This record gives sequence, C-alpha cells and structure tokens, in this order.
Amino acid sequence: MYTKYPTCRRGAFYIALVYFISALLWIILSDYAVGLIVEDADKVVLVGMYKGIFFVLATTVVLYFLTYKFFSNMQSQYDKNLENIAKHQETKQSLKNSQRELSKSNMLLNTIINSSPDAIYAKDLDGKYILFNEATAEVAKLKQEEAIGMDDYAIFKPKTADMLREMDKKIIASKKVVTFDEKTISKDGKERVLLVTKGPLLDKEGEVFGIFGISRDITSQKEHERFLEESKEKFYNLSYQDKVTNLPNRLKISEVLVEKCSQEIPFCLILLDLDEFKIVNDSYGHRFGDKLLFEVSKVLVEVFDSTAFLARMGGDEFAIALNKSDKKEIEALMQKLHAKFSNPFKIDMVEVYITASSGISIYPDDVQSMEEMYQASDTAMYNAKKLGKNSFSFYDAEFKKEAVAYTQMVTNLKQAVQKGELELYFQPQNEVISGKIVGVEALLRWKSEGKMIAPDVFIPLAEKSSLIVEIGNFVIKSGFEVAKRWHERGILKNRLSINISARQLTHLDFIVTLKNMLRESGCEASWIELEITESSVLENPELVISLLEQIRALGFYISMDDFGTGYSSLSYLKNLPINKLKIDRSFIMNIREQPKNQIIVKTVIFLAKELGIHILAEGVETEQEHSFLLENKIDSIQGYYYAKPMPLDEMERLLQA
Ligand code: C2E
Ligand code: MG
Ligand code: MG
Repeated sequence: MYTKYPTCRRGAFYIALVYFISALLWIILSDYAVGLIVEDADKVVLVGMYKGIFFVLATTVVLYFLTYKFFSNMQSQYDKNLENIAKHQETKQSLKNSQRELSKSNMLLNTIINSSPDAIYAKDLDGKYILFNEATAEVAKLKQEEAIGMDDYAIFKPKTADMLREMDKKIIASKKVVTFDEKTISKDGKERVLLVTKGPLLDKEGEVFGIFGISRDITSQKEHERFLEESKEKFYNLSYQDKVTNLPNRLKISEVLVEKCSQEIPFCLILLDLDEFKIVNDSYGHRFGDKLLFEVSKVLVEVFDSTAFLARMGGDEFAIALNKSDKKEIEALMQKLHAKFSNPFKIDMVEVYITASSGISIYPDDVQSMEEMYQASDTAMYNAKKLGKNSFSFYDAEFKKEAVAYTQMVTNLKQAVQKGELELYFQPQNEVISGKIVGVEALLRWKSEGKMIAPDVFIPLAEKSSLIVEIGNFVIKSGFEVAKRWHERGILKNRLSINISARQLTHLDFIVTLKNMLRESGCEASWIELEITESSVLENPELVISLLEQIRALGFYISMDDFGTGYSSLSYLKNLPINKLKIDRSFIMNIREQPKNQIIVKTVIFLAKELGIHILAEGVETEQEHSFLLENKIDSIQGYYYAKPMPLDEMERLLQA
C-alpha cells in the first residue's frame, strides 16, 4: 500500500522548532554567560563572534543529522512503497490468471453438465435450485434460468414436492450419498423408471451447504431387463414345462432325480401310465384326451402333497418323485390314488372311466442312478400292466433277470435271420361248404437252439427292437418264392397270406420293398394276400389307409386280421380298402355257448356280405364251431379243425393231394 507523506510537514516543523528553541536558548543563555565570564568589551565582541561560529557549527551538525534521518526515513518509505507496488501488480496479475482459469473450468463444467443426458441438479439448504442442467430443464419443461432460485413446490405437485423435501432433509441430516430406483409418471402419462443418486454438498469444513442429485432415465434398460427375464421364463417354460398339464416335464424331473440321487437321501420314483388311453383319444379326439390328462394331473396333485415332485413324461405317462422309501407308506398312497381312478372323469359333459398302471422303484435300495431308476420303475410298471392293469407294482430284482433275458433274446433274434433259424410254416384256409383249400397263411417259426419259439413271443420283441423290418422282409421274400413255385406247379390256385406288422407297414421303404421283391422273385401281386391287424390301422388311420390303397393298386389282396379285437372296428370298415375280414378266434371259441358272440359273428358276416368283403373265421377247432359257421354262411375257415400250421413240404403234400 502507498504511504502518503503527512510526516513531511511535521518533520519540517519539528526541525524548525528544534532550531528555533535551541537558537533562542543559545542566544539568551550564551549572551548571559558571556556577560558573566567576560568583562572586557572588546573580548565580548570576539567571544560573541566565536559564540556565533560555534552556534552555526552546532546547528549545522544538528541540521545535518536531522535532515539525514528525515531523508533516510523517506528513502526507506519510498523503497517500501515501490516494493508494495510491485507486489500489488503481481497479485493483480495472478488474480487475473486465476479468474481466467476459473472461468475456463466453469465453462468446462457447464459444458459437461449440460451435455449430459442425465438430469443433474443442486439445491441450497432452503431447497432452492442452484444448478439445473439442460436435461433437468427438459424433463421439468422449464428454462434453465427460470429454474434457478425456484424450489420443488414451484415445479412439482405439492405431494411430490413434500416427498422430495423430506428426502433432501434426510440426506442433509445423514450427510450420505444414496442411490435408488424411482418410478415416476412422465408428462405424457407414461411410467418411467429413474436411477437417482443424491448426496450432500459439503464445504471445506465439511458443513452441508446444499444437496446435489443425478437422475438417469433407465426405463428402456428396465424394459430390456424385463424382456430378458420374460424370455428366460418363457424359455424355461418351453423347455421345462408340459403344455397340456402345466406340470414340469421329463427334462425337469430328470434334473431333479439326478440331484436327489447325489444327495443320497432315500426316495422313490413312481411311473404311472394310463391304461388304454389311446382308445379314449381315438374315440373322443385329442383335445378331449388332453383335457383328460389335465384332469389326471389334478388328481395326482390332490393325492400327493407338496413335497412330491410331479411331472408328465409325455403321452399318457406321469412321474412322481416322492420323499418316501417305506413300502407300506407308498402303498397306502397308491391305494388312495387308485381309489380316485375308480371314479369317472367328467370332461365336456362326458363321463369317462380310465385306470392307470404304476411301477415304483426305491433309491438306493433298488437303483443307484437316475437312469437305473427310470428303467426299474418302467419295468415295474410293465409288470403291473402284465398283471392285468389298474394296479401298481414295486420293482423286483427278478425283473432285472427278465430284462436281461429279454435283451439276450433280442440279440439271439438278430442273429436268427443270418443263422437261418427262421422258417415259414403254413396253415390252410378252407371253404366252409366244400372244405376245399382256398388259401394258405404263412406263419413264422423260430427254431432257436432246438426249441420252437412262438411268433406271439418274438414278433412283439422284433417290433420293439425294430428288427421287424428285416424279419418281415425275410417273410415276404420267402413267401413270394413259395407262392411263385406253387403257382408254377399249379398246386395253389388262390393266394398265400403273409402277415404284415404295423411298424413294417408304416416303414418308409415298404412299398418300394414290395415292388422290388415282386420283380426279383417273379411272383405276381395277385397271388399274395397281405394281412394287417386292426390295431395297426388304429395307430395312424390316415397313413395306413393311404398305404393300403397304394398296395391294392399294385394288385395285392388285403385282409384284416384279428378282426374284432381293435375296439373301433366298424367305423373304419367303410373307409378301409380291404378284401377280406378274419374274425378273431376269441369270438369263435365255444361259440355255441356264447349267445352274445353268436350275435356279433352273425352281424359281422352280414355286414361283410353287404359290403362285398370275403369273410373268414380264425381258430376254428371243433365241429360245433364249424357247423355254426356253416349255418351262418361264412365264406371260409382257418383252424385246427382242418389243419394246424405245418412245414413247407407237408403243406405241399397236402396241396398236391
Ligand atoms: P394270426 O395271424 O392271427 O395267425 C393265426 C394264429 O392262430 C396262428 O398262431 C395259428 O397257429 C393260430 N391258430 C390257427 N388255428 C388255430 C386254432 O384252431 N386254434 C388255436 N388255438 N390257434 C390257431 P401263430 O402261428 O402262433 O401266430 C401267432 C400270431 O403271430 C399270428 O396271428 C400273427 O399275428 C403273428 N405272426 C405269425 N407269423 C407272422 C409273420 O410272419 N409276420 C408277422 N408280422 N406276424 C406274424
Ligand atoms: Mg394272420
Ligand atoms: Mg389272427
């Protein structure tokens, strides 16, 4: 700072005063002293001169020191001032620099804050806005400058403002930064989700002087998350849930079983299969069948408590994993379940009765793994079916032996074709009036290690293991060769019947195989009758009908075997391209004592004649059976009454006779 010179006048005055007083004193005192000391007048003048010189000298010295002191003071004051000026200039410059820096960083901050898509704002302790970036202004539909100085009450509805104020107070009190999701309704009425971060503004001393807030609109992010979550759920439902019953599916229960087996806690697996569900499906349609499955699932939920894990395995099969290993307890539950099945299920105003067969295996008593458990429960379930259905069966180690024997048999059967163990037998079909042979059926035999195994045993086995195609081809090939030979020799004027199983018929190459074999053997289609069973039609009626039409177009004769055992026979009769009906032995047996069977057989004979279909009775053994059929004008008969199935040479002898 400048120091002005108020001391100048004071200094000058001070020097003048000193000089005035000292000069006055000197004059008065020195003249008085001289008058006392010096008496001589001449000397007085001389002394007066010396006195004057001394005074001048003395005052000169005094003046010198005084002015020296004064100027040196002034000099140092001046230097100090100069220094101050320089310092001041410097401070001013640095102040300017910092102001420039400050405004630069202000600009920077403003640019960043205003370019942010997030709403950024700050309020003072009174709740008035001191910062309101562009994003905030846009959301609030305000101008930035307008908002500064406003509080929440001026911007939002009172309820919202109250809520915001309350929250601000909490933040001010706790001095903590908080982050949370906030749901708001935007001005266009849409629900929006914000991710909000709020915290205190602190000064150097750590005192709160306001609060800041950053709000990010995460609505689309949340929607995306929800979409992902829903997709995950949908995917889960698709892959783990059965659509018909809403129960978990096979995949899910497999995971549960694996987990249970790893925990080594005893439990059991019940596999439940509905008996004759196919008949319900065929009679009432698939939608009805689906409803029935749903009703069955409800019964299962009712019987087993929430600790049980229920699943639909597919088709008409259900699985129940139960945290029980005590057979008596399980049996009690199974009895309760089977009792439920004794009531009809009411669907679309229709009451249907259905039964179920179940197989049960227990971990770890019977099985050690999930795969074994399925196998064991399945085997037990088949045992229950074998025992007459509508029952349940626990797994027995004996079943395993049977299963091993079964597998062994399949292996042997595989080799049977190559080893030449398969052979055709033949049984005649006779006209009922004349007893003349009007046809021959080829029946397959398996001579395995000296034993004769019946087709009823190994044909189902071959069908299950898909060996049936290979075996069937052997039968067709051999049958065609035999038919050709008999026709060439003229010993059979009519047809040779060959049995065709359902799986063989619906196999992709069947028609092609037939054509190829006709060509290769030189046999004619008109010499051959193909027998299909009624049940094979029921499995896939549309496909079978179309296949049969193609077969008939090739020139083959088609007969329906085991007629009457397939339940819905009559409804198909009019659509099926068949030439012959073979009434099943079960209707013929002891027919004289079976009035109902008599009516059925009479009706079928009548029906066949009306439709122009040849009619044959199977398994005729006795004269009584024969005479009944003769009376009722059946076309032909096949049975022990005439002849049992016999080897080729025997049959040829019979034909030549
Ligand atoms: P199926 O086609 O109904 O053949 C008639 C069955 O009844 C034959 O049994 C025959 O021996 C038997 N049978 C005939 N007359 C009488 C009788 O008076 N009394 C009794 N009790 N039975 C009689 P088989 O040969 O044991 O054949 C059983 C079934 O195996 C056949 O029933 C047929 O469905 C099937 N089968 C036989 N050979 C073949 C074949 O080459 N291919 C296919 N897919 N199935 C075949
Ligand atoms: Mg047959
Ligand atoms: Mg039959």
